[in-house]
Amino acid sequence: MAEKGNTPTPTSTATRTLKTTSFGRQECSVSLEKILYNNKEWAAQMRQRDPDFFSRLANIQTPEWLWIGCADSRVPANELLGLGPGTVFVQRNVGNLCTHKDMNCMACVEYAVAVLKVKHIIVTGHYGCGAVQAALTLPCKTPGLVNLWINDIRDTRNHHQELLKKLKDEPSKQWDMLVELNVIRQVFNVCTCPIVQAAWDAGQPLSVHGLVYDVKDGVLKEITEPITSMDDLQHYLEAPQEHEAVAQLSRSLSVHLSFENSN
Ligand SMILES: [Zn+2]
Repeated sequence: MAEKGNTPTPTSTATRTLKTTSFGRQECSVSLEKILYNNKEWAAQMRQRDPDFFSRLANIQTPEWLWIGCADSRVPANELLGLGPGTVFVQRNVGNLCTHKDMNCMACVEYAVAVLKVKHIIVTGHYGCGAVQAALTLPCKTPGLVNLWINDIRDTRNHHQELLKKLKDEPSKQWDMLVELNVIRQVFNVCTCPIVQAAWDAGQPLSVHGLVYDVKDGVLKEITEPITSMDDLQHYLEAPQEHEAVAQLSRSLSVHLSFENSN
């Protein structure tokens, strides 16, 4: 907490707006004035803890982590990792996707790996993900653009339908399983994207991780082992896997890689 006297006080406008809790025409639990006030208070606290904090960050950012996560408001990268500003480069989208055709995500990965030289890329899915749930239903039940966006998850669903059908009487387990399968698929997408491949070829230290966050208890779970090279990926895919979903994906990706290697 900032010392008394250093903490900015809300303006009279902010106080008035807090009472009405309205934002535009929409009722809102937090007003913009309150958010701006919170921001000033946070900045004052940061300066008090570390007077050079902002001047240091203003000149350079040296994050070691790239976070690829869902846009879901319950899964904020820095907070749940316990890391402050300047430490995590963040890419978030609906369903934590990292497809090679997504220019936004690929540009972000390129900048993070080639310029910032991050050491780790973490793909984080989360249980209770609405995008994954939508991918379990027929396309006509999802709004148009979202429906297009989650096609990669639906492909994963179709690819692993035998595994998912075993859980048809346990919808929440089926949902959880597709969340994990989607993370594994996106980890593979990251590992096989040209930017990461080039970095590994150049000997740049770079690990790729797959995690799932549980919104019910706030805990992150490791789904895939750290992958640090193409050899690592192949060894990982060839090794016996405890996780049935990983084992199944491993088998299919091994076929993919063996085709590439023999071609
Ligand atoms: Zn989500």
